[in-house]
Amino acid sequence: MDFSLPDEHRMVRDTVREFCEEEIEPIAQEIEDEHRFPADVFDQLADLDMMGVPVSEEYGGLGGDQLMYALVTEELGRVSGSVGLSYAAHVSLASKPLELFGTEEQKERWLRPLAEGEYLGSWALTEPSSGSDASDMDTTAEKREAQSASNRSGVAAEEDGDEWVLNGTKQFITNANVAGSVLVKAVTDPDAGYDGISTFIVDPEEDDGFEVTTVWDKMGLNASPTCEIQLSDVRLPEDRLLGEEGDGWEQTKKTLDGGRISIAALSTGIAQGAFEAAKEYSTEREQFGQPISKFDAIRNKIVDMDRKIERSRLLTHKAATKYDQGESVSHESAMAKLDASESARTVSEDAVQVLGGYGYTEDFAPQRHLRDAKLMEIGEGTSEIQHLVIGRELGL
Ligand SMILES: Cc1cc2nc3c(=O)[nH]c(=O)nc-3n(C[C@H](O)[C@H](O)[C@H](O)COP(=O)(O)OP(=O)(O)OC[C@H]3O[C@@H](n4cnc5c(N)ncnc54)[C@H](O)[C@@H]3O)c2cc1C
Repeated sequence: MDFSLPDEHRMVRDTVREFCEEEIEPIAQEIEDEHRFPADVFDQLADLDMMGVPVSEEYGGLGGDQLMYALVTEELGRVSGSVGLSYAAHVSLASKPLELFGTEEQKERWLRPLAEGEYLGSWALTEPSSGSDASDMDTTAEKREAQSASNRSGVAAEEDGDEWVLNGTKQFITNANVAGSVLVKAVTDPDAGYDGISTFIVDPEEDDGFEVTTVWDKMGLNASPTCEIQLSDVRLPEDRLLGEEGDGWEQTKKTLDGGRISIAALSTGIAQGAFEAAKEYSTEREQFGQPISKFDAIRNKIVDMDRKIERSRLLTHKAATKYDQGESVSHESAMAKLDASESARTVSEDAVQVLGGYGYTEDFAPQRHLRDAKLMEIGEGTSEIQHLVIGRELGL
């Protein structure tokens, strides 16, 4: 479905597709096997101006929109779920909140390097004991009198005014060990419920007390680092608070509305990659004297893959377009994410089946797509939570 895409969008998509086929696809399995974050790929994406696609040019972004960003994310997912996931976390979760909720100074200091691709960003909401019920977090930020302390760079902290002191553990945080900034959610008022959560900008290099304690081995997406982080008396100046104190939960909901569109796009790309591999294979592989695509059972699988992918893409583009019109997209983004992630899993599984025994080997991509697709039904709100969101939007 690209009949209605503006020329500029097509151009960006085609540029990224070419880059993906030349630079990412050849190493996609290797980086998974080695559990290697491909920093050089992100440097090249920065050279292509892709690290801040939906961020305003004023802050170093490309000045594109959510639809353009969805197209780019789909292309990355088509060749590597890992690159797509780290990219989506960087843009939707780590960069967009700074643009939406930051002060001019914060955008200049923290958003620009992300949008220009100087380094990646990260976003820390989930904790060991709070995932779906994310607001039930234990991480705290307390306001205290500033101390005269030195950070790792040896620069003395401000002595006058207050500072925030963060303590807690965050779980499953994408990019945390390669990030130049991490947006951390913490409770600033334990008695205020949803209104007691705030967002802080943490510098993993410079802020003492920030430590990545685990990088998880996973069933897929192993080139995208998923980390546990420990915050032990991390002292932050007041200007690291993003937006107003107590705005953290409202910010989270808006961030996830946009983020789910990118997970839907990523899922569409993963499904597209699996579909193409299966379609090609089915016309080349012969059994019983004819290409397996001539058997109804195989052809119907491939037709259903095509149908599901088209549906995912349409839902994703609808949500992105509505987002770009400035409307609320909680319903549309949850629907797109729910549908596209489920399709990514079933399409990838069918692709493995179409390839038979070869589909079960690492010489062919569908097994990787299948393992990557599963996360799409879990991250940024599980499928069960998307049902809750949609049900709520329907007034149920
Ligand atoms: C690879 C990866 C990357 C991630 N990246 C990030 C990141 O960058 N930043 C971040 O903050 N988090 C990140 N996460 C965390 C992710 O968002 C959570 O894992 C997810 O929201 C689910 O939370 P949980 O794992 O605690 O599961 P739980 O909330 O414990 O859920 C367990 C099961 O119970 C179900 N369940 C829970 N509540 C309900 C309910 N009310 N009704 C019906 N069913 C329910 C769930 O759907 C699920 O099936 C990442 C996770 C992974 C695996």
